[in-house]
Amino acid sequence: MKSKKTKKSLYIFLSSCAVVILAFTSFYLINIHNINQSYYETYNTKGGVALRKFPYPYKAAMTICSDIDGTTTKEEFLEIQRFLNTKEETSMGEGVGLEIGNSFVMYAPPTCAFSYFSGNPGNMQVIKKFIKTGYIDFMHSYGEKTDFTRKDAIKAIEELNNNQCKVDVWVDHFITADNLGDDCTFGSGDHPDSTAYHSDLTLAYGIKFAWLGRLTMVIGQSIPISLKTFSLIYDSTHPVHSLINMGKEFAKNVLAVFGNKKYGMHKSYDLMRIAKLDDGQKVYEFLRFDNYWKGVATGATSKRLAYVISKRTLDRLKEVNGYMIVYTHLGKNSDCSQVIAKETQIALRDLASEYERGDIYITTTSKLLNYYLNHKYLNWSYETKADETIITIYGVEDPVFGSFVPTTKNLQGITFYLPDKYRTRIYIRNKEITNIQRNPRDYTGRESITIIG
Ligand SMILES: [Zn+2]
Repeated sequence: MKSKKTKKSLYIFLSSCAVVILAFTSFYLINIHNINQSYYETYNTKGGVALRKFPYPYKAAMTICSDIDGTTTKEEFLEIQRFLNTKEETSMGEGVGLEIGNSFVMYAPPTCAFSYFSGNPGNMQVIKKFIKTGYIDFMHSYGEKTDFTRKDAIKAIEELNNNQCKVDVWVDHFITADNLGDDCTFGSGDHPDSTAYHSDLTLAYGIKFAWLGRLTMVIGQSIPISLKTFSLIYDSTHPVHSLINMGKEFAKNVLAVFGNKKYGMHKSYDLMRIAKLDDGQKVYEFLRFDNYWKGVATGATSKRLAYVISKRTLDRLKEVNGYMIVYTHLGKNSDCSQVIAKETQIALRDLASEYERGDIYITTTSKLLNYYLNHKYLNWSYETKADETIITIYGVEDPVFGSFVPTTKNLQGITFYLPDKYRTRIYIRNKEITNIQRNPRDYTGRESITIIG
């Protein structure tokens, strides 16, 4: 009699467990399905005339987003950029000639001499010059000033404005008071009651995009989620570590689906989302990538960048047509015999050939984020008149900083698929754009037109 009762309660217990598991799994899968559906809709190119995801002829888009800490001198900075941005002869051989940017700080401790207010006029000149040419495209917080207050932000912004030095990207540094992120980088720069409060001034200066400390190991952002999203984190050369990483990344995704705030960006792995700062202002927050096998964020050095942007990573990025912003510190090179680690030089040369072959679009962080934004919120339509396709762009409906009518420069790289590349005109409102490039069939077999800016 007793055993019958126990059996019955065990049966009830197990069936309740099964129901709960089933409910959770269904909830998770429905959410993933909805996320994937929204990607299919956003990047759908099935129509006769359609907006291509990336500039022609690329299959994916990527940038290397290098934090300036670790870069100790102006000479080191210049040599890194010469290798990245030019095809000149450097101490590491010929440069790779890619459009990869870098960052700056206004204040830095005496041990890191390369900062704007370092007292060395040469540093200031170089930083100003690189900001103006767009090769320094983000601020890596105001810097490491232990007694940082709002006054320091005012001084910095005044100096930047007086010199027409504008950047629109902000990246939090490792735990400094002026950071804008709360839960990963523990900043109070956006807390109105803090002495370090500055986000009202900083956004008014021109910051639109902010990195608040969130990293992922998932290769390729803004793409549908599948089993491979997680299984590819596994690396047979480092089985234990990579299995743990895979588990962690999946757990973050599940937590995010069930409403966890800290891992909110791990829900859809979109490149960017609208984030609300503590003072109520909104910015575009973006996600950075680092899949180093020892754990997320341990790979952000010159040497380890080779692993992070390995052929395996790049192949997957192309296969899934993803966006990606790679996190690193090119100046963290104390374990390298040259300014950039030898293995990373090879990886960067491979990256340059991906770009030159027309496979992966490489540009600065700022340009990539602006491209993503303008593409996502582009308001356009088309009509067919006597065999001719007329595309009209009305504006960019930016939900955070306001709608605007773009210039051709804002639209650089925007590409439309069309039935006939010669019988097409593109207008911004009622003004025809002549700065266009008519492209032959790409890897999908379709002709297109690109706005060249
Ligand atoms: Zn940093």
